[in-house]
Amino acid sequence: MSNLPIKVLVPSLPSVDQIEPYLRRIDLARVYSNFGPLATGFAQRLGGLTGANSVTLTSNGTSAIEIALRLRALPNRRLCVMPSFTFVASAHAVCNVGLTPAFVDIDPVSLVLTPEIVEATLPQLPELPAVVLVISAFGAPIDQESWARFQTRTGIPVVFDAAAAVTALSHVGDAPVCVSLHATKVLGIGEGGAILSSDPKFSERATAMTGFGFMGAERTSAIRGGNFRISEYAAAVGLAALDALPAKVDMLRNVALAYRTKIEATGRRARLQEGAGDWVTMSLNIIVEPEDVQATIAKLDAQKIQWRRWWGLGCHLHPAFADCPSFGLDSTNKVAPTVIGVPCHDGLSAEDIDRIVACFPIATHAPKVHERLPAGDLIEQDVSML
Ligand SMILES: *Cc1c(COP(=O)(O)O)cnc(C)c1O
Repeated sequence: MSNLPIKVLVPSLPSVDQIEPYLRRIDLARVYSNFGPLATGFAQRLGGLTGANSVTLTSNGTSAIEIALRLRALPNRRLCVMPSFTFVASAHAVCNVGLTPAFVDIDPVSLVLTPEIVEATLPQLPELPAVVLVISAFGAPIDQESWARFQTRTGIPVVFDAAAAVTALSHVGDAPVCVSLHATKVLGIGEGGAILSSDPKFSERATAMTGFGFMGAERTSAIRGGNFRISEYAAAVGLAALDALPAKVDMLRNVALAYRTKIEATGRRARLQEGAGDWVTMSLNIIVEPEDVQATIAKLDAQKIQWRRWWGLGCHLHPAFADCPSFGLDSTNKVAPTVIGVPCHDGLSAEDIDRIVACFPIATHAPKVHERLPAGDLIEQDVSML
């Protein structure tokens, strides 16, 4: 087998040729920003893709989360309950809008916060939270129904950070869903984001906040906001990215399924995230047992296979968030080190995937040749030797 280095992520955005027809429309219209025709068309197609009634485009995923939190957080409360296990952008967004993260645990199997975890933690909090920020794990679908019931039951609003999950949504309910269009996400446009909602009134306010709070035709700041719009040039890339999306989703699905097949066929003590391949991601993870972590990453390193802990070991361990309170992070501390981001892009051959999967431990070790077996037992071959 080859010993060439393998990169963990190689983004692919639309080519100049794919973007060009849209750029020509900008030349003709001579509108360059401020909710121009391309941005409007892009927002509409994004709504079609995700099943959202209304779409607010933003300059990136982080600003989408900030705006959604500003609109949804209950006034006069300080805390935002959120999992520590997420990309640090989520915690930055919470702090930027003046809230304090209250870091809580995740379910060790699904890797996400659940309503049960929040409800069990509520009595430990010094005060009622302003909002709960729920994260999609690396692009996995989110359980919007059970969070809608949580919202009704507790009166605490929910915001979804579904940054990597734009192709894993089939509908959008009452709670806003924030997505990222960063180059490293499935629908990458370079920098960009969106807030998806079922409520046109909410989206009208969110969209106004991306453009200095102007509402209606007058140049009057009705609410506080800023400048979080995308230019027509970014929207041109977005429209071309939507054209190319079906092929990209197919490619990512095939990579995930190739991993799944190889992991199963060679009996690895490792798993993909639940359903990975049914939904797609640019940051595919293989999850191992805690005792297998060190040996696995040593093998990957020795093979020059780049790997990454996309979310690190949790926000609570970053110096920037060291002073934020946390409430029981046992599963986070146990599981975060075991989530290993593996190469996932269109440059991988079947042989590359064989080489990567071979770094992961075998589920059961075959008896050594000199070990005596009880009569009648089958000798399983050690597939790592194949
Ligand atoms: C990518 C990501 C973000 C940030 O999105 P940007 O567009 O880079 O600002 C936020 N949260 C999660 C979970 C992400 O994966």
